[in-house]
Amino acid sequence: MHQLKYCSSCGSENEFSFIDGNNRFHCVKCGTIHYQNPKPTATLICMKNNQLLLGRRDRNPAKGKWGLIGGFMELNETLEEAAIRELYEETKLVGEVVNIFGTSSHFNTVFGDVLLIGIVVNVKDWDTLEAGDDISEAKLFEINNLPNLAFDSHLELIELYKKLSH
Ligand SMILES: [Zn+2]
Repeated sequence: MHQLKYCSSCGSENEFSFIDGNNRFHCVKCGTIHYQNPKPTATLICMKNNQLLLGRRDRNPAKGKWGLIGGFMELNETLEEAAIRELYEETKLVGEVVNIFGTSSHFNTVFGDVLLIGIVVNVKDWDTLEAGDDISEAKLFEINNLPNLAFDSHLELIELYKKLSH
């Protein structure tokens, strides 16, 4: 949970206590309730035959570990646009969304609570694959023989994808 010490409306110190159905930061001086919500990410399953595309993370959290390609949605962006943008930024691959197959949740990250939205993306031309933003290496792994992953939430999505595709 992000600590919202001061009220962004009036600058007074916030309180953290029960209001409007949950424990929340709110300002007793001006009455503003500072709602916090999970952040949605586009999290990608890109398969080449039986191989899954992973990226080695180039920044924290979990720098140096492998994870699914993806990232937070930007404002004024659809989920599909976020998926295609993240794929290109991180791997220089051009893809198209096949489907949205499920979600997993990751609570209390440094970004707050995160909702990972699993998206299958089809890549036609793998020749352009290279590590781009935020990753030091991009590589295909046999989906049944993956390295240790950065996050359990990624593993959950992969397991869900495998279950649904059999
Ligand atoms: Zn206030």
